[in-house]
Amino acid sequence: MLFFLTAAAAIWALGWYLRTPASARFILIGLVYLSILAVQVVLPEGNALRRALGGSPGEWLTLGGLVALGLVYAQVLKRLRARVRPENLPPAPPPPGAPDVMRYARHITLREIGGPGQKALGEARVLVVGAGGLGSPALQYLAAAGAGTIGLIDDDVVEVTNLQRQVIHTDGRIGMPKVFSAEKAMTAQNPHVVVRPYNRRLTGEIAADLFTDYDLILDGTDNFETRYLVNRTAVATGRPLIAAALSQWEGQISTYAPKDGTPCYACVFPEAPAPGLAPTCAEAGVLGPLPGVVGAMMAVEAVKEIVGAGEGLRGRMLIYDALHGESRTISLKRRPGCPVCGG
Ligand SMILES: [Zn+2]
Repeated sequence: MLFFLTAAAAIWALGWYLRTPASARFILIGLVYLSILAVQVVLPEGNALRRALGGSPGEWLTLGGLVALGLVYAQVLKRLRARVRPENLPPAPPPPGAPDVMRYARHITLREIGGPGQKALGEARVLVVGAGGLGSPALQYLAAAGAGTIGLIDDDVVEVTNLQRQVIHTDGRIGMPKVFSAEKAMTAQNPHVVVRPYNRRLTGEIAADLFTDYDLILDGTDNFETRYLVNRTAVATGRPLIAAALSQWEGQISTYAPKDGTPCYACVFPEAPAPGLAPTCAEAGVLGPLPGVVGAMMAVEAVKEIVGAGEGLRGRMLIYDALHGESRTISLKRRPGCPVCGG
């Protein structure tokens, strides 16, 4: 037996030296083994060659069986490993601190955004007032675009009548506060942004403190009282305000930044319309996809504002008429003696 083991080791070493494939070495060793086995079985007991090789046919068979078992076990293990790798392994996490280049690749490719723009987005702090129709796409796209910190304030709960247009909420989340429902959708879309839900109504007591925590304010509320409060607070804290509004088939959007010499919301709409003259969505109805169009425009203007790309809507109002498929832009002027921004 010692002869066989020495021969096998010699074949393996020679094969390794000549770079013969392992399978060829196995076959050669197997052939030597089979000839020895044949000698053991065919030649009579006491034959000189049988004695020289040593062992009995039973011992040789046991040795062959053990080696075969070992080889089968190694093959099974190899296949199992191949099955786990690579597609079933979780993707390697990006190195800590590295920007999520793959996630924002289509932004980084844009000349107007690029790496510095994406970095500015990641450092931006945006507050969205209202998690309803306009807030839905604005919040979703801001989260997807990688706006680093997104605050949202709203005191409503999700109702079935919201679902026709407020696509950030789902049927399964009816009854849940809107800010938490929106937070779920946003972190599911992009777990790398910080979402700060405020489940309460925006009031004069908290507005200034809240606004100073953010660089940019988006107003998607549906009542004049809150809109005027948002405008007053944005002017007082020097934060640019992107505000939009909807009625039935029409939407409007503008950026108000009186700090830069452009009008504030109160310059354009000095007084709230008399009750009944400006019906709410609940009273007058609203086209489901319309807040999608205008809310997404809010996110567009927010990204431009943060990265400093293109022309914003300061001093201009974009009006979208969905029923006739038209949009137009009108210029806005500061109102001399505006009680909010001073005109
Ligand atoms: Zn003003």
